Amino acid sequence: MSSVQLLYLIIGIVLVDYFFDQLLDFLNMKSAKSKLPEELKDIYPPEEYAKSQRYLKARSKFSFLTTAFNTTLTVLILAFGLFGDLHIWLSAHFTSPMLHSLAFFGVLFLVSDIINIPFELYSTFVIEAKFGFNKTSLKTFWADKLKGYLLVVILGGGLGYVLLWLIFEWQEQFWIYALIVITAFSLFMSVFYTSLILPLFNKLTPLAEGELKDKINAYAERVKFPLDNIFVIDGSKRSSKANAFFSGMGKKKKIVLYDTLIEKQSDDELVAVLAHEVGHFKKKHVMVGMAISVVQMAITLYVLSLLIFNENLSMALGAEDLSVHLNLVAFALLYTPISKLTGILMNMISRKNEFEADAYASTTYNPVPLQSALKKLSVDSLNNLTPHPAYVFVNYSHPPLLERLKHMDKFKKPE
Ligand SMILES: [Zn+2]
Repeated sequence: MSSVQLLYLIIGIVLVDYFFDQLLDFLNMKSAKSKLPEELKDIYPPEEYAKSQRYLKARSKFSFLTTAFNTTLTVLILAFGLFGDLHIWLSAHFTSPMLHSLAFFGVLFLVSDIINIPFELYSTFVIEAKFGFNKTSLKTFWADKLKGYLLVVILGGGLGYVLLWLIFEWQEQFWIYALIVITAFSLFMSVFYTSLILPLFNKLTPLAEGELKDKINAYAERVKFPLDNIFVIDGSKRSSKANAFFSGMGKKKKIVLYDTLIEKQSDDELVAVLAHEVGHFKKKHVMVGMAISVVQMAITLYVLSLLIFNENLSMALGAEDLSVHLNLVAFALLYTPISKLTGILMNMISRKNEFEADAYASTTYNPVPLQSALKKLSVDSLNNLTPHPAYVFVNYSHPPLLERLKHMDKFKKPE
């Protein structure tokens, strides 16, 4: 393909992807029901339900604006060859091809992040605040931003440097070494995330002795789950939305509970939520998930190795000769349809896993408190209860609440 044809193809992919997402958003908005589903009459007060409909509208409108803005910007940058201009401008300042590439991505990241700051501010301090979710102060917002940049420079810069070195050193064969490096990096992150990254943003305190801790430990012991430590994280510093997760591997597993979750749920409900998470480990979802992402990464890197030294790609983006960083950008855009498809596949697997974890919690603990915990979580975060099936198919990593409740009904003991 000539560079002009490639440019048209890339712009075409950006636009098709945009309209595909818009169509799904539109269907999803249309499928919002003003009537409250029967199953939730006991917990969703009518005025809260009306509020959830307004929240969905506000978020959809906002995402319509931001994606329209960012898509227009991308298309204009492509059409005017601005990626190529940036590349040429930087080449006057950097003689080392590696530093040139790193600087290119640095500028790209910084500019696109700064352009999106007004949207982030509006989302947090106007929309989330209006619906009572936001607990962040401007001070925390900017501190987060700074720490985020620092992490990008250290982790992103470090990993980027290694990957670029592999490309320059090993040429087309780089992909196999890159796969090893990326896999090692993500293993490292999954082991040390809670102890290294999380404390930069949040305060973690061990769960106080008491009934809740005893109940969690008793359950973990009964199902032979190697629980190392239980932490409470100050999620309330930023948002009233609640969450819980596990981290760690092998014999040392940590549970992290949001303070906002503990505040709203009973002990029984909290143990049920954790039983669900334990189910993910027991059913090997975490291990299998990692294996799948390694395979996915291998395919991505291999396809990249076929394109990374194609001069026409750089020229499509406005350069006069081959540049590795321009080809990486072109590749990222060209690869969108494939990553969309793998994303859908991953979501399908994830939704199946959620049902399995619900079943595990229901059989080893109790479906009733898990059902009420999930209902509370949905109501508190004003979740959309009637998403469009097509939207769910593409975007949902978890089955919609009503499907999960119905599935758990099967495990209820007859009275
Ligand atoms: Zn889950």
